[in-house]
Amino acid sequence: MTSPSKEKEHQKNWIKFVGTAGARFVVARQLRSSGGLWLSFQGVNLYVDPGPGALVRCLASIPKLDPTMLDGILLSHRHLDHAGDINPLIEAMTEGGYQRKGVLFAPQEALEEDPVVLKYIRPYLGKIEILKENQGYSLGDLKFSTAGRHRHSTETYGFNFHLPEATVSYLTDTKFHPDLISQYPGEVLLLNVVLLAEIPDRKIDHLSFDDVKAIRKESRAKTIVMTHFGTRMLQADPTNLAARLSEETGRRVIAARDGMTLEIEELIKDF
Ligand SMILES: [Zn+2]
Repeated sequence: MTSPSKEKEHQKNWIKFVGTAGARFVVARQLRSSGGLWLSFQGVNLYVDPGPGALVRCLASIPKLDPTMLDGILLSHRHLDHAGDINPLIEAMTEGGYQRKGVLFAPQEALEEDPVVLKYIRPYLGKIEILKENQGYSLGDLKFSTAGRHRHSTETYGFNFHLPEATVSYLTDTKFHPDLISQYPGEVLLLNVVLLAEIPDRKIDHLSFDDVKAIRKESRAKTIVMTHFGTRMLQADPTNLAARLSEETGRRVIAARDGMTLEIEELIKDF
């Protein structure tokens, strides 16, 4: 029989892309699912950015993702494609409020200025923690930190998850600026790539595939995973774009697909 500590040692850390949609049209037409990410890190189940349909996609996924297994929900910002299902998911995690549990991590603007979390549901949670920039947080054995506030139209933070085998960075919605690369030093780097190329004269605070090329050059990440695609990215075929960029740079780039599960151990192997 393996001892509990031995079991922990062999515990796999993984990410499931419940959805890979970004931006309004892809979400509105459900060209991709907008379910966000389920992380299983250090034995902790944490849901990140449950967009519209997250709960349905969890229950429909194979194997089924059971929301009552969640230990917490992490919201990078209050935009609908990240937060549309936050209330149904809190209700599911807490079995309709009968099991008071779980931690919600969210920026203040998502809770106060234009709240996306209903007030009658908040007491169902074990705790609410307000996110601030450059702060450390923990949930069970999982430790993570925020980076600096993003250049986005609402209060937005990305995260670095500190695992024994690697740091996993999640660079959520933002306009590109060069400081981002040092703020997200993970061996595994998840990028929300809404745009194919920057659209001149239009104020869109999102990363483009051109930014990914610049980031791939500078970042020491062993693997970059792109997700959260807008319409033009989808038309350009993200899987093909990722394969070409991997070939050009000799470094691993993956395009996430709905329902894809990735093990961190696999992402830090040499390419
Ligand atoms: Zn956004």
